[in-house]
Amino acid sequence: MPDLLLRNVRIVPLSPRAHAPAGVVDVLVADGVVSAVGEGLARPDGVEAYDAGGRWLVPGLWDAHTHLGQWTLRASRLDLHGTRSPAEALARVAAAAREVEPGEAIVGMGHSAGTWDRWGTVSELDSVTGGTPAILVNHDFHHAWLNTAALDAVDLPRREDMVQETEWYETYPRIAELFESSGSTPAAFRRMLTRTAALGVVGMTDFEVGIRLDDWRSRWVSGCDLVRIRVATYADQLDEAIAEGLRTGDRLLPGEDRLTMGPLKIISDGSLGTRTAWCCDPYADDPDSCGAPNQSPDELQGLLAKAHTAGLEVATHAIGDRAVSEALAAYATTGARGSIEHAQLVRHEDLPLMARLGITASVQPAHILDDREMTEDVWPGREDRCFATRWMLDEGVRVALGSDAPVAPLDPWLAISAAVGRSRDGKEPWHPEQALTIQEALAASVDGRPTVAPGSRADLAVLDIDPLRASVGDLAAIAHGGVVLTTVGGRIVHRSS
Ligand SMILES: [Zn+2]
Repeated sequence: MPDLLLRNVRIVPLSPRAHAPAGVVDVLVADGVVSAVGEGLARPDGVEAYDAGGRWLVPGLWDAHTHLGQWTLRASRLDLHGTRSPAEALARVAAAAREVEPGEAIVGMGHSAGTWDRWGTVSELDSVTGGTPAILVNHDFHHAWLNTAALDAVDLPRREDMVQETEWYETYPRIAELFESSGSTPAAFRRMLTRTAALGVVGMTDFEVGIRLDDWRSRWVSGCDLVRIRVATYADQLDEAIAEGLRTGDRLLPGEDRLTMGPLKIISDGSLGTRTAWCCDPYADDPDSCGAPNQSPDELQGLLAKAHTAGLEVATHAIGDRAVSEALAAYATTGARGSIEHAQLVRHEDLPLMARLGITASVQPAHILDDREMTEDVWPGREDRCFATRWMLDEGVRVALGSDAPVAPLDPWLAISAAVGRSRDGKEPWHPEQALTIQEALAASVDGRPTVAPGSRADLAVLDIDPLRASVGDLAAIAHGGVVLTTVGGRIVHRSS
């Protein structure tokens, strides 16, 4: 691991009890670990120095709940929202064309060509893409702007105008088959990881469905080794992980501590939107239903016990209060460790047990903004128990923030600002009595490492503003260029120019 000297940083204390030096200090990193903090540290020979100019240093951020394959697919699509003319769309395509690698295509979405002064031509698109296939799907999905390489690839006659209606609908499955894989190549993952590191993210737990541990191993050695990844497994591949002797936290590649075995993931109930989250009380718009569990109590306990015996933690998806309560009972019975994912609706009386068991509440605050109206419709009278992060902390439950990307954007600053502000579009905060302070929300985003001191892992982020003095809007805006440096194990993975 490389060594590094960070000069002139202000260490942000993420707990009221944390001892952070009051002024500007230097931080020395050796072998991936902070080895010294102090004023005017000497630079050992051959060690790179980075002058932060008095900016603010925090432990690097984690996203505790992601689906990285789906997110990469989403993130790899070129976003054409808000373009007001063919020229604006072409400018974005031209920028994307400079990033693609051989064999990849450009799939763009989100524009509304009906609002443009005119439609673009195939020749114009060709002029910025060359031989890279480009498919720009109009937001209403009624037509798409294909360049000549894309037309040729799907055997459509060459032309100057868009592919529309029936011809487009008949072509789309072929497009998906040929070009969607562009969103899951190592190159697409590398671009996603680079953008993620630029947010100050140093690690993520990947709950992608349908992948094998080997998918990450091969991706990793294909250059996708930027930030720490914990790879979860599901019940259908549990035996495979156990046969390999893998325990949570074990390395998936020899000598590599950044790619590790995550937990077993169990989906114990459904979701709010589908009215399948398992609740103690009926849904307001379906009085006969409280949702339902996906496993019997015996099945759930069996899975937890099996994982626990094998040394694996368990991440149990539980959105409704009944599902949370039953999951906690299963952890208590089996002694399993791990987390409850989402914990969207809870009963206050269940939280002391959660704290006692040491089960983490893995919460995605951006959903506060997404689910507010729906919650008022289907769980009226229970809103005060949704995303109950204040209760959780006060009862001693460890909270870890995440995104559930692609359900919400992979952006810890969005999660942090939502946990603090609990509002969007200038509306009054939603149950602000459950809000976290900025310090608490940051502390819930750093994988339980709320200090930078000698001995801490050199997973670090340098920020342009003091986050503890930021407004909610300024916090969210840190995602847009406010992180000037990110390191993982002392290695620089992002630095703004
Ligand atoms: Zn998820």
